[in-house]
Amino acid sequence: MKVELQNLTKIFPSRNKKANEEVVAVNNFNFTIPDGKLIGLLGPSGCGKSTTLYMISGLQKPTSGKIFFGDDDVTELSTENRGIGLVFQNYALYPHMTVKQNILFPLQNLKGKDKMTKEEMLERANYAAKLVQIDELMDRKPSELSGGQQQRVAIARALVKMPRVLLLDEPLSNLDARLRLQTREEIRRIQRETKITTVFVTHDQEEAMSISDLIVVMKLGVMQQIGEPQEVYDNPTNLFVAKFLGTPPINVFNGRVHDGKIYIGEDAVMDAPGVQDQEVYVGIRPEGFNLDENGPFHCKLSSVEVMGRDVSIVSTNEASINPIIRSIINAENKVDTNQEYVSYSLKPNKIFIFNKENEERIHFEVK
Ligand code: ADP
Ligand code: MG
Repeated sequence: MKVELQNLTKIFPSRNKKANEEVVAVNNFNFTIPDGKLIGLLGPSGCGKSTTLYMISGLQKPTSGKIFFGDDDVTELSTENRGIGLVFQNYALYPHMTVKQNILFPLQNLKGKDKMTKEEMLERANYAAKLVQIDELMDRKPSELSGGQQQRVAIARALVKMPRVLLLDEPLSNLDARLRLQTREEIRRIQRETKITTVFVTHDQEEAMSISDLIVVMKLGVMQQIGEPQEVYDNPTNLFVAKFLGTPPINVFNGRVHDGKIYIGEDAVMDAPGVQDQEVYVGIRPEGFNLDENGPFHCKLSSVEVMGRDVSIVSTNEASINPIIRSIINAENKVDTNQEYVSYSLKPNKIFIFNKENEERIHFEVK
Protein backbone atom coordinates (compact mmCIF):
# COMPACT_ATOMS: atom_id res chain seq x y z
CA MET A 1 0.00 0.00 0.00
CA LYS A 2 1.52 3.28 -1.13
CA VAL A 3 1.19 6.12 1.39
CA GLU A 4 1.21 9.69 0.19
CA LEU A 5 1.40 12.84 2.29
CA GLN A 6 0.24 16.04 0.60
CA ASN A 7 0.96 19.43 2.19
CA LEU A 8 0.54 17.77 5.56
CA THR A 9 0.70 20.28 8.41
CA LYS A 10 0.04 20.10 12.14
CA ILE A 11 -0.06 23.21 14.27
CA PHE A 12 -0.65 22.88 18.01
CA PRO A 13 -2.37 25.96 19.37
CA SER A 14 -0.73 28.02 22.03
CA ARG A 15 -1.47 26.71 25.54
CA ASN A 16 -1.14 30.22 26.87
CA LYS A 17 -3.78 32.44 25.24
CA LYS A 18 -1.83 35.66 25.73
CA ALA A 19 1.51 34.54 24.40
CA ASN A 20 1.37 33.34 20.84
CA GLU A 21 3.32 30.14 21.24
CA GLU A 22 1.74 27.86 18.71
CA VAL A 23 3.95 25.01 17.60
CA VAL A 24 4.24 24.04 13.95
CA ALA A 25 5.03 20.41 14.68
CA VAL A 26 4.82 19.30 11.04
CA ASN A 27 5.28 21.90 8.33
CA ASN A 28 3.93 21.14 4.87
CA PHE A 29 5.15 17.59 4.34
CA ASN A 30 5.05 16.21 0.82
CA PHE A 31 6.39 12.77 0.22
CA THR A 32 5.37 9.32 -0.93
CA ILE A 33 6.16 6.08 0.82
CA PRO A 34 6.38 3.48 -1.94
CA ASP A 35 4.37 0.27 -1.62
CA GLY A 36 6.08 -2.44 0.39
CA LYS A 37 8.98 -0.31 1.58
CA LEU A 38 10.28 0.48 5.04
CA ILE A 39 10.77 4.19 5.54
CA GLY A 40 12.65 5.66 8.49
CA LEU A 41 11.51 9.01 9.91
CA LEU A 42 14.64 10.39 11.49
CA GLY A 43 15.42 13.51 13.45
CA PRO A 44 16.17 14.85 16.93
CA SER A 45 13.60 14.79 19.69
CA GLY A 46 10.76 17.26 19.11
CA CYS A 47 11.16 17.49 15.32
CA GLY A 48 7.66 16.13 14.65
CA LYS A 49 8.24 12.42 13.99
CA SER A 50 5.52 11.12 16.31
CA THR A 51 3.08 13.79 15.16
CA THR A 52 3.61 12.68 11.55
CA LEU A 53 3.06 9.06 12.53
CA TYR A 54 -0.07 9.88 14.53
CA MET A 55 -1.53 11.74 11.59
CA ILE A 56 -0.87 8.76 9.30
CA SER A 57 -2.56 6.56 11.91
CA GLY A 58 -5.54 8.87 12.40
CA LEU A 59 -4.83 9.41 16.11
CA GLN A 60 -4.24 13.07 15.34
CA LYS A 61 -6.08 15.21 12.82
CA PRO A 62 -3.97 17.34 10.48
CA THR A 63 -4.42 21.11 10.60
CA SER A 64 -4.26 21.01 6.81
CA GLY A 65 -3.20 18.70 4.04
CA LYS A 66 -4.14 15.20 2.98
CA ILE A 67 -3.11 11.59 3.48
CA PHE A 68 -3.66 8.91 0.84
CA PHE A 69 -3.40 5.14 1.20
CA GLY A 70 -3.10 4.05 -2.42
CA ASP A 71 -5.74 6.12 -4.22
CA ASP A 72 -7.96 6.42 -1.12
CA ASP A 73 -8.05 9.74 0.69
CA VAL A 74 -7.99 8.56 4.34
CA THR A 75 -7.60 12.03 5.89
CA GLU A 76 -11.06 11.94 7.49
CA LEU A 77 -11.11 8.19 8.17
CA SER A 78 -11.02 6.98 11.79
CA THR A 79 -8.03 5.03 13.09
CA GLU A 80 -10.02 1.76 13.25
CA ASN A 81 -10.94 2.00 9.59
CA ARG A 82 -7.51 2.75 8.21
CA GLY A 83 -6.16 -0.79 8.40
CA ILE A 84 -3.02 0.12 10.30
CA GLY A 85 -0.92 -1.62 12.93
CA LEU A 86 0.68 0.54 15.61
CA VAL A 87 3.63 -0.19 17.89
CA PHE A 88 4.89 2.25 20.50
CA GLN A 89 8.04 2.58 22.53
CA ASN A 90 6.40 1.22 25.68
CA TYR A 91 4.92 -2.10 24.74
CA ALA A 92 1.46 -1.30 26.16
CA LEU A 93 0.38 -4.92 26.56
CA TYR A 94 -2.58 -5.88 28.72
CA PRO A 95 -0.86 -7.13 31.88
CA HIS A 96 -3.64 -9.46 33.03
CA MET A 97 -3.84 -11.25 29.67
CA THR A 98 -1.57 -13.98 28.34
CA VAL A 99 0.50 -13.44 25.21
CA LYS A 100 -2.07 -15.35 23.20
CA GLN A 101 -4.97 -13.27 24.57
CA ASN A 102 -3.03 -10.08 23.87
CA ILE A 103 -2.48 -11.06 20.25
CA LEU A 104 -6.06 -12.26 19.79
CA PHE A 105 -7.54 -9.12 21.26
CA PRO A 106 -7.65 -6.94 18.10
CA LEU A 107 -9.37 -9.77 16.19
CA GLN A 108 -12.09 -10.29 18.79
CA ASN A 109 -13.37 -6.77 18.27
CA LEU A 110 -13.85 -7.11 14.51
CA LYS A 111 -17.41 -6.52 13.41
CA GLY A 112 -19.63 -7.24 10.40
CA LYS A 113 -17.98 -8.79 7.40
CA ASP A 114 -14.59 -8.75 9.12
CA LYS A 115 -15.78 -10.96 12.00
CA MET A 116 -13.75 -14.16 12.27
CA THR A 117 -14.40 -17.64 13.66
CA LYS A 118 -12.43 -18.84 16.65
CA GLU A 119 -10.36 -21.15 14.44
CA GLU A 120 -9.55 -18.38 12.01
CA MET A 121 -8.49 -16.11 14.86
CA LEU A 122 -6.23 -18.76 16.38
CA GLU A 123 -4.65 -19.48 13.03
CA ARG A 124 -3.92 -15.78 12.53
CA ALA A 125 -2.55 -15.37 16.06
CA ASN A 126 -0.27 -18.37 15.61
CA TYR A 127 0.95 -17.03 12.28
CA ALA A 128 1.77 -13.63 13.81
CA ALA A 129 3.44 -15.24 16.84
CA LYS A 130 5.62 -17.45 14.60
CA LEU A 131 6.59 -14.44 12.52
CA VAL A 132 8.02 -12.69 15.56
CA GLN A 133 9.26 -15.96 17.08
CA ILE A 134 7.28 -15.96 20.30
CA ASP A 135 5.09 -18.99 19.49
CA GLU A 136 6.68 -20.85 22.43
CA LEU A 137 5.56 -18.17 24.89
CA MET A 138 1.84 -18.01 24.15
CA ASP A 139 0.65 -18.88 27.66
CA ARG A 140 2.87 -16.47 29.57
CA LYS A 141 1.85 -13.14 31.03
CA PRO A 142 3.73 -9.99 29.92
CA SER A 143 5.41 -9.76 33.34
CA GLU A 144 7.06 -13.11 32.62
CA LEU A 145 8.72 -11.82 29.46
CA SER A 146 11.87 -9.80 28.76
CA GLY A 147 11.55 -6.35 27.22
CA GLY A 148 12.52 -7.69 23.83
CA GLN A 149 9.92 -10.45 24.04
CA GLN A 150 7.24 -7.97 25.14
CA GLN A 151 8.02 -5.78 22.15
CA ARG A 152 7.70 -8.84 19.87
CA VAL A 153 4.25 -9.49 21.32
CA ALA A 154 3.33 -5.88 20.63
CA ILE A 155 4.52 -6.29 17.04
CA ALA A 156 2.57 -9.55 16.67
CA ARG A 157 -0.52 -7.77 17.98
CA ALA A 158 -0.02 -5.02 15.39
CA LEU A 159 0.44 -7.58 12.61
CA VAL A 160 -2.41 -9.92 13.44
CA LYS A 161 -5.02 -7.88 11.58
CA MET A 162 -2.81 -7.96 8.49
CA PRO A 163 -2.55 -4.17 8.40
CA ARG A 164 -2.13 -2.24 5.17
CA VAL A 165 0.44 -0.04 6.87
CA LEU A 166 2.61 -0.76 9.91
CA LEU A 167 3.59 2.23 12.06
CA LEU A 168 6.38 1.93 14.63
CA ASP A 169 7.20 4.79 17.02
CA GLU A 170 10.70 4.34 18.51
CA PRO A 171 9.94 0.64 19.09
CA LEU A 172 13.46 -0.25 20.22
CA SER A 173 14.18 2.61 22.63
CA ASN A 174 13.35 0.64 25.76
CA LEU A 175 15.60 -2.30 24.89
CA ASP A 176 19.21 -2.75 25.90
CA ALA A 177 21.90 -2.38 23.24
CA ARG A 178 22.19 -6.04 22.24
CA LEU A 179 18.44 -6.64 22.08
CA ARG A 180 18.02 -3.44 20.15
CA LEU A 181 20.33 -4.72 17.42
CA GLN A 182 18.69 -8.12 17.34
CA THR A 183 15.14 -6.77 17.33
CA ARG A 184 15.87 -4.31 14.56
CA GLU A 185 17.12 -7.17 12.38
CA GLU A 186 13.90 -9.00 13.24
CA ILE A 187 11.74 -6.05 12.23
CA ARG A 188 13.61 -5.85 8.96
CA ARG A 189 13.09 -9.57 8.31
CA ILE A 190 9.38 -9.44 9.22
CA GLN A 191 8.89 -6.41 6.98
CA ARG A 192 10.59 -8.18 4.06
CA GLU A 193 8.52 -11.33 4.60
CA THR A 194 5.18 -9.57 4.91
CA LYS A 195 5.97 -6.70 2.48
CA ILE A 196 3.78 -4.44 4.60
CA THR A 197 4.51 -0.76 3.96
CA THR A 198 6.16 0.35 7.19
CA VAL A 199 7.00 3.68 8.80
CA PHE A 200 9.70 3.43 11.45
CA VAL A 201 10.29 6.45 13.69
CA THR A 202 13.62 6.86 15.44
CA HIS A 203 16.03 9.56 16.63
CA ASP A 204 18.94 7.11 16.18
CA GLN A 205 20.61 7.68 12.83
CA GLU A 206 22.44 4.37 12.86
CA GLU A 207 19.19 2.51 13.48
CA ALA A 208 17.41 4.36 10.68
CA MET A 209 20.30 3.91 8.25
CA SER A 210 20.60 0.17 8.89
CA ILE A 211 16.93 -0.74 8.65
CA SER A 212 15.36 1.62 6.09
CA ASP A 213 14.85 1.49 2.34
CA LEU A 214 14.39 5.24 2.48
CA ILE A 215 15.02 7.77 5.22
CA VAL A 216 13.34 11.10 5.78
CA VAL A 217 15.51 13.49 7.77
CA MET A 218 13.52 16.07 9.73
CA LYS A 219 14.36 19.19 11.73
CA LEU A 220 11.88 21.39 13.63
CA GLY A 221 8.91 20.10 11.67
CA VAL A 222 10.57 20.63 8.30
CA MET A 223 11.63 17.80 6.03
CA GLN A 224 15.29 18.23 5.13
CA GLN A 225 15.93 15.35 2.77
CA ILE A 226 14.47 12.04 1.61
CA GLY A 227 16.46 9.29 -0.04
CA GLU A 228 18.17 5.94 0.30
CA PRO A 229 20.37 5.97 3.41
CA GLN A 230 23.63 5.71 1.49
CA GLU A 231 22.56 8.40 -0.96
CA VAL A 232 21.69 10.81 1.87
CA TYR A 233 24.97 10.05 3.64
CA ASP A 234 27.00 10.56 0.46
CA ASN A 235 25.06 13.61 -0.68
CA PRO A 236 23.70 15.58 2.26
CA THR A 237 21.66 18.56 1.19
CA ASN A 238 22.75 20.80 4.08
CA LEU A 239 24.99 20.98 7.12
CA PHE A 240 22.30 19.68 9.48
CA VAL A 241 21.86 16.44 7.51
CA ALA A 242 25.63 16.04 7.11
CA LYS A 243 26.08 16.37 10.88
CA PHE A 244 23.12 14.19 11.82
CA LEU A 245 24.25 11.12 9.84
CA GLY A 246 27.40 9.15 10.55
CA THR A 247 29.41 7.78 13.47
CA PRO A 248 31.88 9.12 14.26
CA PRO A 249 30.29 12.36 13.09
CA ILE A 250 31.53 14.51 10.25
CA ASN A 251 34.35 16.94 11.09
CA VAL A 252 33.33 20.56 10.50
CA PHE A 253 35.68 23.49 9.95
CA ASN A 254 35.46 27.22 9.38
CA GLY A 255 36.90 27.69 5.91
CA ARG A 256 36.73 29.77 2.80
CA VAL A 257 36.81 29.42 -0.93
CA HIS A 258 39.36 31.58 -2.72
CA ASP A 259 40.34 31.40 -6.41
CA GLY A 260 38.60 28.04 -6.82
CA LYS A 261 40.29 26.41 -3.86
CA ILE A 262 38.96 25.40 -0.45
CA TYR A 263 41.06 26.74 2.41
CA ILE A 264 41.11 25.60 6.01
CA GLY A 265 43.33 28.13 7.77
CA GLU A 266 46.32 28.59 5.45
CA ASP A 267 45.99 25.12 3.92
CA ALA A 268 44.50 24.84 0.43
CA VAL A 269 42.94 21.43 0.98
CA MET A 270 40.97 20.86 -2.24
CA ASP A 271 40.06 22.41 -5.58
CA ALA A 272 36.51 23.71 -5.91
CA PRO A 273 36.39 24.93 -9.49
CA GLY A 274 33.67 27.44 -10.31
CA VAL A 275 32.75 28.28 -6.70
CA GLN A 276 32.69 32.01 -5.90
CA ASP A 277 35.00 33.37 -3.23
CA GLN A 278 33.21 33.20 0.12
CA GLU A 279 33.34 32.00 3.71
CA VAL A 280 32.10 28.40 4.05
CA TYR A 281 31.76 25.53 6.45
CA VAL A 282 33.90 22.60 5.35
CA GLY A 283 32.71 19.11 6.32
CA ILE A 284 35.04 16.14 6.08
CA ARG A 285 33.85 12.61 6.83
CA PRO A 286 36.16 10.68 9.19
CA GLU A 287 36.90 8.20 6.38
CA GLY A 288 37.79 11.06 4.03
CA PHE A 289 41.40 11.47 5.21
CA ASN A 290 44.51 9.84 3.72
CA LEU A 291 47.72 9.90 5.72
CA ASP A 292 50.06 11.63 3.31
CA GLU A 293 53.26 13.34 4.38
CA ASN A 294 53.02 15.58 1.32
CA GLY A 295 49.29 16.17 1.86
CA PRO A 296 47.98 19.75 2.03
CA PHE A 297 46.08 19.59 5.32
CA HIS A 298 48.04 19.87 8.56
CA CYS A 299 46.68 19.05 12.00
CA LYS A 300 48.19 18.73 15.43
CA LEU A 301 48.37 15.09 16.48
CA SER A 302 46.73 14.23 19.81
CA SER A 303 46.44 10.47 19.94
CA VAL A 304 45.99 7.29 17.94
CA GLU A 305 43.36 4.76 18.93
CA VAL A 306 43.70 1.25 17.55
CA MET A 307 40.36 -0.32 16.65
CA GLY A 308 41.58 -3.52 14.96
CA ARG A 309 40.81 -3.17 11.28
CA ASP A 310 41.12 0.60 11.47
CA VAL A 311 42.93 3.19 13.50
CA SER A 312 41.29 6.36 14.66
CA ILE A 313 43.56 9.40 14.65
CA VAL A 314 42.60 12.22 16.98
CA SER A 315 44.01 15.59 16.05
CA THR A 316 43.22 19.28 16.40
CA ASN A 317 43.14 22.34 14.17
CA GLU A 318 42.31 25.93 15.06
CA ALA A 319 39.62 26.11 12.38
CA SER A 320 37.79 23.03 13.66
CA ILE A 321 34.30 23.67 15.06
CA ASN A 322 34.50 20.52 17.18
CA PRO A 323 37.16 20.28 19.90
CA ILE A 324 38.77 17.31 18.12
CA ILE A 325 39.11 15.98 14.60
CA ARG A 326 38.59 12.28 14.19
CA SER A 327 39.86 10.48 11.13
CA ILE A 328 39.56 6.77 10.44
CA ILE A 329 42.48 5.22 8.61
CA ASN A 330 43.18 1.65 7.57
CA ALA A 331 45.33 -0.02 10.26
CA GLU A 332 47.93 -0.97 7.66
CA ASN A 333 49.03 2.67 7.73
CA LYS A 334 51.63 3.17 10.41
CA VAL A 335 51.31 6.37 12.35
CA ASP A 336 54.37 7.79 14.06
CA THR A 337 52.87 8.84 17.38
CA ASN A 338 55.95 10.88 18.29
CA GLN A 339 55.39 13.47 15.60
CA GLU A 340 53.75 16.73 16.56
CA TYR A 341 51.83 17.26 13.32
CA VAL A 342 50.07 14.94 10.94
CA SER A 343 49.49 15.67 7.25
CA TYR A 344 46.53 14.53 5.22
CA SER A 345 45.32 14.55 1.68
CA LEU A 346 41.54 14.40 1.38
CA LYS A 347 39.20 12.19 -0.63
CA PRO A 348 37.19 14.45 -2.96
CA ASN A 349 33.84 12.66 -2.48
CA LYS A 350 34.14 12.88 1.33
CA ILE A 351 34.49 16.64 1.59
CA PHE A 352 31.51 18.99 1.43
CA ILE A 353 31.20 22.76 1.64
CA PHE A 354 28.22 24.68 2.96
CA ASN A 355 27.04 28.27 2.71
CA LYS A 356 27.93 30.09 5.91
CA GLU A 357 24.54 31.85 6.19
CA ASN A 358 21.91 29.30 5.26
CA GLU A 359 24.09 26.17 5.71
CA GLU A 360 22.98 24.79 2.34
CA ARG A 361 25.40 22.60 0.43
CA ILE A 362 27.49 24.28 -2.27
CA HIS A 363 28.09 21.81 -5.05
CA PHE A 364 31.25 21.74 -7.07
CA GLU A 365 32.72 19.47 -9.66
CA VAL A 366 34.84 16.73 -8.10
CA LYS A 367 37.82 15.86 -10.25
P1 ADP B 1 9.22 13.82 18.08
O1 ADP B 1 8.36 12.61 18.02
O2 ADP B 1 10.04 14.03 16.84
O3 ADP B 1 10.08 13.87 19.30
P2 ADP B 1 6.70 15.25 18.38
O4 ADP B 1 5.99 14.96 17.12
O5 ADP B 1 6.29 14.48 19.59
O6 ADP B 1 8.28 15.13 18.15
O7 ADP B 1 6.56 16.80 18.72
C1 ADP B 1 6.80 17.82 17.79
C2 ADP B 1 6.55 19.17 18.43
O8 ADP B 1 5.17 19.32 18.72
C3 ADP B 1 7.26 19.39 19.74
O9 ADP B 1 7.67 20.73 19.81
C4 ADP B 1 6.21 19.06 20.77
O10 ADP B 1 6.44 19.75 21.97
C5 ADP B 1 4.96 19.53 20.10
N1 ADP B 1 3.77 18.77 20.50
C6 ADP B 1 3.58 17.44 20.33
N2 ADP B 1 2.36 17.05 20.78
C7 ADP B 1 1.77 18.17 21.26
C8 ADP B 1 0.49 18.46 21.86
N3 ADP B 1 -0.42 17.49 22.05
N4 ADP B 1 0.24 19.74 22.22
C9 ADP B 1 1.14 20.72 22.02
N5 ADP B 1 2.33 20.53 21.45
C10 ADP B 1 2.66 19.28 21.08
MG1 MG C 1 8.23 11.00 19.38
